[in-house]
Amino acid sequence: MRDMIRIGVSACVLGEKVRFDGSHARDAFITDTLAKHVEFIPLCPEVACGMGIPREKVRQVDCAGDIRLIGHESGEDWTDRMNAWAGRLLNELEQDGLCGFVVRNASPSCALMQGKIFSTTGGPVRRGAGFFTARLLERHPLLPIETEERLQTPLLRENFIRRVFVLKRWRDLLARGMQIGHLVDFHTRHKMLIRAHDLRGYRELGHLLGESSVFNTAEVFAAYGALLFRSLSLKATPNKNADVLMHAMGFFKRDLDSRDKQEVLDKIAEYKAGRIPLIIPVTLLNHYARKFDKPYLAQQFYLNPDPAELKLLNHV
Ligand code: SF4
Repeated sequence: MRDMIRIGVSACVLGEKVRFDGSHARDAFITDTLAKHVEFIPLCPEVACGMGIPREKVRQVDCAGDIRLIGHESGEDWTDRMNAWAGRLLNELEQDGLCGFVVRNASPSCALMQGKIFSTTGGPVRRGAGFFTARLLERHPLLPIETEERLQTPLLRENFIRRVFVLKRWRDLLARGMQIGHLVDFHTRHKMLIRAHDLRGYRELGHLLGESSVFNTAEVFAAYGALLFRSLSLKATPNKNADVLMHAMGFFKRDLDSRDKQEVLDKIAEYKAGRIPLIIPVTLLNHYARKFDKPYLAQQFYLNPDPAELKLLNHV
């Protein structure tokens, strides 16, 4: 079981001079903040599959539905070499227990959604994942993947961090061996977090565990994992988070005086209006969970994240 979270990253975002013109695209949040809490696996797909530095630009070209990676000036076709390298790499990454990926925005190889795809006759016809990221998404559709640019947005950053840490705990759970009791404990501690992303998925996961005796353990784990990460791929918006915070507040109906209640309500409202980060009402409710001895709340990862997760969320 690895302690450190491993995240793949486009090498140029870390400051490596691997771009087509020998430059980098260093991102301060990635190198100065995220780097303190995770172990990076830096990759430059273009260099790794044999392109030099500097090099001509490549672009994705839609050849009758077959997306090819083609040199802009020379017309050299890198598709097969990139596919061969990506296939080997993705096998290795599976063994590495990767918990997320940060890719460079708008690159023909690494983009998440903004990579240009050209027609064979010239202009760009649409945008989509870069060539390497498309392979990554095919192989790991539920892996948390973000671009360095989108991680500047607090909501997207928060969602990414939460998902990465859940995936790490999920991998650790699997490493301990599949036992339904452990899965129920895992689910119990993630209930509020899952609700914040997907109320329907949260209920489906509850039903699945309620019927777990009907299926074999491996089937239950496989179905749970697929459903969990599908749910977490939905964004936890301010409205959804506010609903979960109000639900948590209900546990203190008889404990808080009217002034303290009003303070919590104010913090939730300020968060919902975008004036303060989520971590402020979360920390307040976590404080009351301990003060008034609410074990169900106190064990929720939503209110009480891992220390590294908390530091990153505090940064949001
Ligand atoms: S965007 Fe990807 S392919 Fe381009 S330089 Fe950065 S790591 Fe390499």
